[in-house]
Amino acid sequence: MTAFTEIKDRADAALCRTYTRYPVGVRSALGSRIRDFDGREYIDLLAGIAVTGVGHCNPEVGAAISGQLRKLVHVSNLFYQEEQVLLAERLAATSHCSRAFFCNSGAEANEAAVKLARRYFRKVRKQDRYEIITLTHCFHGRTLAALAATAQERLQDGFEPMPPGFRQVESGNISALKAALRPESAAVLLEVVQGEGGVRPLDADYLRSVAALCREKGLLFIADEVQAGLCRTGKWWSFQHHGLEPDIFTTAKALANGLPMGAMLCTEEAAQGFDYGSHATTFGGGALCSAAALAVLEIMKRDRLDERAARLGAWARERFAVVSARFPGKIREVRGLGLFMGIELGFPGKAVWERLLEKGFILNLTQERVLRLLPALNIEEADLEAFAAALEETLAETGA
Ligand SMILES: *Cc1c(COP(=O)(O)O)cnc(C)c1O
Repeated sequence: MTAFTEIKDRADAALCRTYTRYPVGVRSALGSRIRDFDGREYIDLLAGIAVTGVGHCNPEVGAAISGQLRKLVHVSNLFYQEEQVLLAERLAATSHCSRAFFCNSGAEANEAAVKLARRYFRKVRKQDRYEIITLTHCFHGRTLAALAATAQERLQDGFEPMPPGFRQVESGNISALKAALRPESAAVLLEVVQGEGGVRPLDADYLRSVAALCREKGLLFIADEVQAGLCRTGKWWSFQHHGLEPDIFTTAKALANGLPMGAMLCTEEAAQGFDYGSHATTFGGGALCSAAALAVLEIMKRDRLDERAARLGAWARERFAVVSARFPGKIREVRGLGLFMGIELGFPGKAVWERLLEKGFILNLTQERVLRLLPALNIEEADLEAFAAALEETLAETGA
């Protein structure tokens, strides 16, 4: 078997320089365990960035994939396929939205949402409205339109010009949103819990005001559920915590437990924005990924992973608060919703993150100070307890 250092050198030579990777080569993974090239086992609190929601190499999803592999993989969207239709119906049953467009990633799902919003105003309402308003600290993906929506200078640097038609306002500030509205404003696009931005759940009153303002001014309300959706926050979709009904929402990450799949869901009214031929994708909604996603939804529903995420997340945040109380100043805030959790340190967290990795815990550091936890929804409580103990030990060792 190839050694880790050799693969690392070959990766540096053969791959584009886009990722600063963790110093871990992964050989295999099962449930909430990852095994590296030397056979060392880690507790995985990241789940492939909120992707393997029902655990690595989930056997039921694996059985659905291998069964489908022998039946039908791909014929394109020129044909009717039962797996895709079933998936659209099952997704529709989880929310107020009744129509789906399938694609291959979160960014693509957001692209579809932006295109639908623009075309809805042009063709259905006969209005020249196209501008999408987003919030500071948001993240909507890396294609040019998704990057324009994300509007972070650091991510856009060197890639200008950005496509026009996007405007950003301060998150949490309803007056700023009101002041930003123009005749050309078409939609507000937001994450109910901002993920890459540092695990920031938006305020309930603010969210309700945004939805009400959209209704009053005739804008579409779009929720990006790519990270927060599919039971992670304790509800099927995070907007359901606040009784909101967005006209459009997007999903991806956990949808097919690691196979690439995204979807845009919308109401019957918003769906009028697309007509036959308006938008397309070669791979989107293929039978293989659809079969995997059907298995994922079945497991989430049967095992009530929404309720489990709510319960376990509440327990974990209380446990982290106990750690926080032991080290005043070292932890600034413990926040999140369900199993979408952030622990903001009072100092840059690279050393703490490295120490936790050495101790065998995989998690993510975002915004320099926020330890982000996105474990599988079926992770054992004991794994979260082990992490809490390791965090306690690490903070005791760390001088900052
Ligand atoms: C990850 C993410 C995206 C982008 O998804 P990709 O599959 O990487 O294109 C978009 N929005 C949110 C909220 C995300 O977390």
